[in-house]
Amino acid sequence: MSSELTFCKMLLDRASHLRKNTAWLADKILANESCFYFYWQNKFLYLEQEIFVYHQNENSVSNDVLSISDISQSDKLTFLGLEGDTAHFVFDLSEFGEAALEQWLLGIGHNKVQRTAKFIDFRRSLSLLSSAQASILSYAKALIHWQQSAVYCGSCGNKTQPLDGGHRMQCLSDKCQKEQFPRTDPVVIMLVEYQPEVGPAMCLLAEHHRISEQVYSTLAGFVDPGESLTEAVSREVFEEVGITVTEISYVDSQPWPFPNSLMLGFIARATSTEINLEEEELRSADWFTAEQLANFYEWGDDVEGAKLPRKESIARLLIDSWCEKQRRS
Ligand SMILES: [Zn+2]
Repeated sequence: MSSELTFCKMLLDRASHLRKNTAWLADKILANESCFYFYWQNKFLYLEQEIFVYHQNENSVSNDVLSISDISQSDKLTFLGLEGDTAHFVFDLSEFGEAALEQWLLGIGHNKVQRTAKFIDFRRSLSLLSSAQASILSYAKALIHWQQSAVYCGSCGNKTQPLDGGHRMQCLSDKCQKEQFPRTDPVVIMLVEYQPEVGPAMCLLAEHHRISEQVYSTLAGFVDPGESLTEAVSREVFEEVGITVTEISYVDSQPWPFPNSLMLGFIARATSTEINLEEEELRSADWFTAEQLANFYEWGDDVEGAKLPRKESIARLLIDSWCEKQRRS
């Protein structure tokens, strides 16, 4: 399936073989064309409505504020990858308190272009980003989230240090030296369909407590240890709505950096229709035809009535492609 999903347009070569080479990385940090993004507590730095990408060869920001020699000494700099020969990095300022950050932002704002520098929540800023930028920043956000959770060794409790441009954390205890690598949590997300003997096919959608009321989305859940993806699909559907499924097939996947999931999209065929709702997670669940879904409102519409999930989500892709298939059949 050709994917138009948000966070699925990565232009960078992750260059995993090169990031282990510290001399190469040091050269890239100092290279004039290298790109630097700035992160602070789930937010990225913008100038007005544009993501701020710092290049050393553009003299728009004073070197007192952004000293690459300072940044290069910091363990808060992460190498993201290469766009051609141009290296992309993200710098994490999350340790700054509000006051220190305010001072730093004033320095950025007081530059020749006289534009307002501010940090904007990543999720809220998606509409300001191209799909390629959204993919790079979602990758950056997921990596930093992992690094922040790995600053101590899970084995002996000592501090760790980032290596390989921020892609490996190693325990500083000589006895231990345990390594940690970035984590991705697999989540299965599935559209359950049912074809009655008479009448149009239906799909099962639910209102989840964790999203707004009247938004009907597909079922989803984390994969358990020791479980295959199809087992996870069957288990989650049965746990959430008491329905058994068969003919489970993979559709597409999407990295979801809130905070570090990989959504694995499936379609499955129900062998029963009676819903037994798991009320802790779901507000309601029901069967809908493609014709009914065509009359749903959009996510975020300020109206009373059933709405579809966000357009950038894999839930929406599963619903839209199922509806398209019904229209064609
Ligand atoms: Zn350790």
